[in-house]
Amino acid sequence: MSKHSLGTVNRLRAPPLIFESGSPERSGFFWPEEKKTDWIPSQFVRDEIAGFPELGELEVLRHFTCLSHLNYSIEGQFYPLGSCTMKYNPKINEVVARLPGLSLLHPLAPTVLIQGALELLYDLERMLVEISGMDHVTLQPAAGAQGELTGLMMIRAYLTAQGNPRKKILVPDTAHGTNPASCSLCGYDVVQIPSNERGIIDVAKVRTVMDEEVAALMITNPNTFGIFEQDIQAIAEVVHHKGGLIYMDGANLNAIMGIAKPGHMGVDALHMNLHKTFSTPHGGGGPGAGPVGVKDILRDFLPIPRISKGSKRYELREDFPLSIGRVRSFLGNFGVLVRAYTYIISLGADGLEETSRMAVLNANYLRKRLEEYYHLPYSEPCMHECVFTDRVQQKLGVHTMDIAKRLLDYGFHPPTIYFPLVVSGAIMIEPTETEDPETLDSFIDAMISIAREAKENATLVNTAPHSTPVQRLDEAGAARRLVLRWGGSKPEGSGQKAER
Ligand SMILES: *Cc1c(COP(=O)(O)O)cnc(C)c1O
Repeated sequence: MSKHSLGTVNRLRAPPLIFESGSPERSGFFWPEEKKTDWIPSQFVRDEIAGFPELGELEVLRHFTCLSHLNYSIEGQFYPLGSCTMKYNPKINEVVARLPGLSLLHPLAPTVLIQGALELLYDLERMLVEISGMDHVTLQPAAGAQGELTGLMMIRAYLTAQGNPRKKILVPDTAHGTNPASCSLCGYDVVQIPSNERGIIDVAKVRTVMDEEVAALMITNPNTFGIFEQDIQAIAEVVHHKGGLIYMDGANLNAIMGIAKPGHMGVDALHMNLHKTFSTPHGGGGPGAGPVGVKDILRDFLPIPRISKGSKRYELREDFPLSIGRVRSFLGNFGVLVRAYTYIISLGADGLEETSRMAVLNANYLRKRLEEYYHLPYSEPCMHECVFTDRVQQKLGVHTMDIAKRLLDYGFHPPTIYFPLVVSGAIMIEPTETEDPETLDSFIDAMISIAREAKENATLVNTAPHSTPVQRLDEAGAARRLVLRWGGSKPEGSGQKAER
């Protein structure tokens, strides 16, 4: 059992407002009164804020250091959002990405001067070919979504070259929102396929909707329930038989690296999110890289320039007349590519396989220990993440949002909630490969305590969080009535005791 005390409560408190601190005449800096106007240009002297705080240097330092510690971080706490948002990224990747020879390279430097960088990119392409089982890889796309678009553009170009780009793409109902968006952007209609009672796609269902108007089937594997699409080969046969292609969303490969290769499952094109699986801190929307792997049939359509290894040196070649063209400036998101290269090299083939095994083991450990307390919509063993719902707690008047908020009192960041959309009240937990058993146990203990509280004292859970600097926020309001600046008027509550 856990070495941590059960239910450690988050004791972080916000410091008083800076306007409530200090004392008149206190200052962090002293100057001769007669020099004051010489030293500070008049436009920088602020006197419009009543009760401007007067503090010593150390007080100011402590105030802002204290505020900075209110931030939740992967270095400080467990993050059950997993690789999609912020898994732990080993520091060696950061160190290498910052080496001056790499970080200071000019993007317009001639190829003779960037041979080392080109070799790194060329080798990374080969490593991703090996990991994915595809024949070729382009590193250009700057995100998963852009990788999807790039892959679909190649599929469209390939089908057009065959005489008919076709009209539709089949997309499972569990797909990430970017999938249908990419289809639309590429000029295709989306046909949704429902998942079956096991949480996966049925071959029979695909057979009924597959026709010669379908350009491709876009499938995520493991899917967003965290379940492996076991029938993928049979599905690929059905689609190929009618002349369609298989696109796989491989955003999260950390469940299958070193164990199963999409290229062996009948997949014709896939993207891999390097910022998720292959380590780049990317919370808050970037940066990313979504390289696309393709089979030989799509080779001619790959974006240009392509990195090739000549007899003397690496080159950037543009002589591919069927190419879909350039999808990103320069050579892609180079810093992210360097991190992925370092991650792969430092773990090695065995290390990557071990990573996948640990990610799957951790998720299944969590699933087994919590299945008594929370409803599991699918009982299949999971891959790197598992999905629970609030069905049991709902009857007690406690919902997914309440459970997530109560976790804050236990010092944990909530997991992904209300996604996948097709599962009502979803709680999707991805522990990732790096967490130790003690941390998993303390998270599980918190979840179990909350399940118990829901039975014994639902109000406690319903009104959580109780220990954080602010309680429930109007989340929709924060997004809809965005206030990014005060626009010259005074911040509300300045110079007086503000309400919190
Ligand atoms: C994250 C994710 C995407 C989108 O990737 P971005 O890099 O955010 O554009 C697509 N599909 C799945 C399954 C994902 O998890």
